[in-house]
Amino acid sequence: MTNHPVPELLYNYSLKPYNTFGFDVRAAIFTRLTDESALPGLLRFINTYNGPVLFLGGGSNLLFTRDFEGLVVQVATKGIEIIEEDDEFVYIRGMAGENWDDFVRFCVGRNYGGVENLSLIPGNVGSSPIQNIGAYGVELKDSFYMLDAISLRTGEFREFTLDECNFGYRNSVFKNELKGQYLILSVTFRLKKNPALNTSYGSIAAELEAMGESPSVDSVSRAVCNIRRSKLPDPAEIGNAGSFFKNPVVDEAHYEKLKGEYPSMPAYPGSEGVKLAAGWLIEQCGWKGYREGDAGVHSRQALVLVNYGNASGSQVVDLSKRIIASVQEKFKVTLEPEVNIL
Ligand SMILES: Cc1cc2nc3c(=O)[nH]c(=O)nc-3n(C[C@H](O)[C@H](O)[C@H](O)COP(=O)(O)OP(=O)(O)OC[C@H]3O[C@@H](n4cnc5c(N)ncnc54)[C@H](O)[C@@H]3O)c2cc1C
Repeated sequence: MTNHPVPELLYNYSLKPYNTFGFDVRAAIFTRLTDESALPGLLRFINTYNGPVLFLGGGSNLLFTRDFEGLVVQVATKGIEIIEEDDEFVYIRGMAGENWDDFVRFCVGRNYGGVENLSLIPGNVGSSPIQNIGAYGVELKDSFYMLDAISLRTGEFREFTLDECNFGYRNSVFKNELKGQYLILSVTFRLKKNPALNTSYGSIAAELEAMGESPSVDSVSRAVCNIRRSKLPDPAEIGNAGSFFKNPVVDEAHYEKLKGEYPSMPAYPGSEGVKLAAGWLIEQCGWKGYREGDAGVHSRQALVLVNYGNASGSQVVDLSKRIIASVQEKFKVTLEPEVNIL
């Protein structure tokens, strides 16, 4: 049997640069996966190591409340490749460690449509299916083709089709039945050569008009970038993980009752019920711009909780619990965190 080398292990390693909240926590052991040839050695180590393991992408959907007493593996494998095409579609594979927006640039730059509305979402390609990233009326699942993963338990490679991923709103099989069981190695997308552009959501059409441009893959992407930059805090300036909560979905009866009381309440009917805007509910409870020490609610977007510098993860979680309680009391609606709390 080949004796695969164990990847370089770093001990008591600071994760401050590796989580967009900027929390000052440490990993007991840290390693980096830059090449798939190191996988056998990594898996062998994981299987003999008796402790928790966390795969890390861009750290933009994680909230550390304490040091991670286990092994953190930063997935840093690179590469974007067109693997197949026909008259209508092009199939493009991104390695797990590729930056998501670099992948979007690759597609937009070649005029392949499908992911332009997902421009500028932080994080990596390998994490993008985990919560089925979405923005401006589009979700990852709309362009997803398949992904390659490896089982941590058996070391077997497995392909997951669209159906097998069981994608839902900010959800997938990897947050449920298969949580923590697979390392995603690469994701293949099916992009369109003649895409139908989605400009119906939010302010994309208005932004295009202000830009004086007609819709194209490139202009929609730039419009989305402009809107996002004007609305969302940049983690390089203020620590945050984007939307802290999911938008809650309520049944029709509950919605009708709330609408009677709050006629201006934004709502989006869907197959699973009526989706409400968590940010609006939080704002109505008076939290927008609230600050307590270095933990706070962003002043322009109430859905985003922030670390102004030296807050701890626990302080932000405490604040989130009080927000959940006040939304529950006022609207009888339960907010759930979108962020992974560790
Ligand atoms: C400013 C800002 C704006 C955002 N806007 C949006 C938005 O519009 N829409 C949206 O959907 N999200 C948004 N997010 C959330 C975030 O960008 C996404 O959830 C993103 O997919 C997380 O990617 P990441 O690489 O940073 O994952 P991480 O935070 O590093 O990890 C997230 C989870 O995935 C797991 N994981 C990571 N890589 C792998 C792998 N290769 N195999 C198996 N498991 C893995 C981790 O263990 C963890 O459980 C935003 C975040 C920020 C900071």
